[in-house]
Amino acid sequence: MTKIFKQSLRMCISCREREEQNKLLRLQCVDGSLKSFIGSKRSFYICKNCILLEKKVLKALMRQCKSGDRDKFTNQLKEIITDDRKS
Ligand SMILES: [Zn+2]
Repeated sequence: MTKIFKQSLRMCISCREREEQNKLLRLQCVDGSLKSFIGSKRSFYICKNCILLEKKVLKALMRQCKSGDRDKFTNQLKEIITDDRKS
């Protein structure tokens, strides 16, 4: 029997691996700030492996947000991860 793969795959912006959407963290940039995805703007995904590789993921984030404020993104990423674990 053929297993039909219904989950849509999304690409992690850091490692470019494709993963099921529910295994990725969905983020967006709002005015140069990193936020959890709330529904409207262009969003992107980071896999749970890359979240741990801070240096690598920050590079990808700065590229997505077209901003070079590494310290700001480091803090914002930490906040988002903390919120994600709470929910
Ligand atoms: Zn990744």
